[in-house]
Amino acid sequence: MTKNPVIRLKSRESARLRLGSPWVFSNEITMDAAAKALPPGTAVSLAAPDGTVIGAGYFNPKSLISIRLLNKTPRPFDAGFFAERLRAALALRDKLYDAPFYRLVHAEGDGLPGLVIDRFGDTCVVQITTAGMDLLEDAILAALDQVIAPKHVLLRNDAPSRTLEGLDAEVRVVKGAPPSPLTVQENGINYLADLSGGQKTGWYFDQRDNRAFVARLAKGANVLDAFSYTGGFGVLAAASGAQHVTFLDASEPALAWAMKAAEENGVGEKCHAVKADAMVELEKRAANERFDVVICDPPPFVRAKKDLESGARAYRKLARIGATLTAPGGYLLLASCSHNISAERFALECAAGIARSDHASATLIHQSGASADHPVHPALPESAYLKALVYRLA
Ligand code: SAH
Repeated sequence: MTKNPVIRLKSRESARLRLGSPWVFSNEITMDAAAKALPPGTAVSLAAPDGTVIGAGYFNPKSLISIRLLNKTPRPFDAGFFAERLRAALALRDKLYDAPFYRLVHAEGDGLPGLVIDRFGDTCVVQITTAGMDLLEDAILAALDQVIAPKHVLLRNDAPSRTLEGLDAEVRVVKGAPPSPLTVQENGINYLADLSGGQKTGWYFDQRDNRAFVARLAKGANVLDAFSYTGGFGVLAAASGAQHVTFLDASEPALAWAMKAAEENGVGEKCHAVKADAMVELEKRAANERFDVVICDPPPFVRAKKDLESGARAYRKLARIGATLTAPGGYLLLASCSHNISAERFALECAAGIARSDHASATLIHQSGASADHPVHPALPESAYLKALVYRLA
């Protein structure tokens, strides 16, 4: 038996906890002096008010989410524990994908809150976002060696959310020498990702299925890939028979990788890159340009709950401009990666924006989220952060 400190719930389990939520909030527990004194990240057991242990996880007295549960019963969170969870995560990805390029661990969705691991062949990028997981780094890396044995491991511990947990930012190679750029195989394309300098873990695996869907609409089309990053949508569209693809992004290095990937996949001559502030550039072009397929996959406009109304207005505006840029009979993809706006609200703003364009009508032909290597914990619907809507405009 593991003898961890016990934290008690103030009252009966909330409906949320009964649903299996892995989060326990600070106002739900008895925050006595002993609890307050525990160092951030301490492994704890969670007990009902009568003392019955109902879960085990790690605790941070400084965080609004005080406990993140890892298991229904207490057990050591050692390399053996992580190896079990990694094997389960790997079994799902092995079923889904032919090549080892995917999100291997998606935090709560894989029973490992605070941990993300993206796999690029024999390179793994590990991202730890909570104090509890940070203390378990050695066990995580040992388990990764046991289960995957990657040649290269990069720790990308620079997510802004680490500050909420009192953690510093660091990017560190913990094994081998991760190649940069490295090749990402996805949907039959070899993309390029800059693992240490790029955004997040260097690549957005979450849009894989949506890229494939849009590619089916791209044959013969003039495509605008706005907020293109390194060309996830656009390179595949070009390789799937688009006539021309324009990448638009504010990041010069991202555009350079997009063009290089286009060239390496034999479609460089059909692609060109524009470096600009997308909102300004899109509005300017909307005056006289039209595209058959328009992709708008911006950074999160609703970063915090307090930004909901201003972010919602920005999504509406982008929908209006994106629709205006879409030729009659063309297709428009609108995406949001803000977990602070619901799918319903996002769809409403998109509809309102499209309605303000000149199109006679619009139909929604595809509604989707992140690919299945980003599993969602059933009791945390808000972790389904990605929303992607594809419209046909007439
Ligand atoms: N569609 C991409 C991911 C987009 S991530 C893919 O499939 O991989 C969001 C992108 O928006 C980033 O590349 C970032 O550089 C870019 N970006 C952020 N603000 C911008 C702005 N104001 N104008 C243009 N690009 C912007």
